[in-house]
Amino acid sequence: MTSPWLQPDTIAVHAGREDLAGLGVHALPIDLSSTSPLPDIEAGGTSYEAMAAGGAPTPEGGPVYARLWNPTVARFESALAALENADAAVAFASGMAAMTAAILAATAGTGRRHVLAVRPLYGGTDHLLSTGLLGTETTFCTAAEVAAAVRPDTAMVVLETPANPTLDLVDIRAVVEAAQGVPVLVDNTFATPVLQNPIDFGASMVLHSATKYLGGHGDVVAGVIACGDETAAALRRVRAVTGGLLHPLGAYLLHRGLTTLPIRVRAQQAGAERIAAWLRTHQGVARVHYPGLDGDPQGLLGTQMRGAGAMIAVDLRGGYEQARHVTSAVGLFTHAVSLGGVDSLIQHPAALTHRPVTADARPADSLVRLSIGLEDPKDLIADLDRALAARRPVAVPATALQA
Ligand SMILES: *Cc1c(COP(=O)(O)O)cnc(C)c1O
Repeated sequence: MTSPWLQPDTIAVHAGREDLAGLGVHALPIDLSSTSPLPDIEAGGTSYEAMAAGGAPTPEGGPVYARLWNPTVARFESALAALENADAAVAFASGMAAMTAAILAATAGTGRRHVLAVRPLYGGTDHLLSTGLLGTETTFCTAAEVAAAVRPDTAMVVLETPANPTLDLVDIRAVVEAAQGVPVLVDNTFATPVLQNPIDFGASMVLHSATKYLGGHGDVVAGVIACGDETAAALRRVRAVTGGLLHPLGAYLLHRGLTTLPIRVRAQQAGAERIAAWLRTHQGVARVHYPGLDGDPQGLLGTQMRGAGAMIAVDLRGGYEQARHVTSAVGLFTHAVSLGGVDSLIQHPAALTHRPVTADARPADSLVRLSIGLEDPKDLIADLDRALAARRPVAVPATALQA
């Protein structure tokens, strides 16, 4: 473990690398073995037992098989745990594989199958819960309704802050209190550990779609959950049985990406602050959703969250038609789902990321979501200014109509 008294930027560079000098290497090694040589039956069996219980392999027996343990993945997990002030972390093939494991670990075989979900949530999470695919029964509610909605069979509370796509902030400590001992999972994808550590406010599980800021370069799909040792053991048991593994190449890229996470997030946030302020003055914009821009009634900025982040949502005047125009008219922004990378993206949540959400809870048709990258904000503002310019009516040539 990296010393807890180090600053987060230092932890981001050094965590999860404690065994490298002993191995005689400086860069992170990538272990691609699907299986490991066994010294003898007993040592292999004992190590297998330890991992089947959700623990680490024994030094004598080793990892046995890659679905049980991989050292490259374990190094990334220990670095992410250090950044989230957690005992441990467990990595998965995607954010949704991580969410699936969290739900299964909390519900399957526990006699509790009720989940409380604070909306809004990422469309995939909302869909997974509303379909009951994993045998759960979900009550969707607001943060203020959690206390009244908790039941004896409530297995977990799920929330996002800032929430995807509206950037609503939720008071984690207040929800933890309202949950009356029921474990609370916080999706920390938008804030990243740089801006918010939900464990410090009583969350039991902190989930990241590592695909987004942790990877940061648009080339990895992954998920990870930071939590206490006991929960980590339960998550590893689910992962070993269901097989939603993170590949070691992905873990390597994520671990390397963590070293620049603090400077990326702060630089992207500085750009987003300028762009959000500019958007607010634009006559084509009805409303800018950006934490703290129109006040912070709950007082969460500077206390729960160290900054507003680099995601912005915008209600456009002109509704769906204008959203359709703007998402196609941008040049520097890429019209694409996902977020958190070094380059800027724009997308329409109602049509794409939040398409599977039931109509009553789906984002507005006028809403577009921006993920601000590392480009110079002046260039991004110029790009948005051009795209937001009133749409010129397109004259359709008569010949085109006859064709
Ligand atoms: C993308 C996303 C997810 C799902 O993660 P995947 O890696 O795409 O499976 C979950 N939560 C939030 C907030 C997300 O943005």
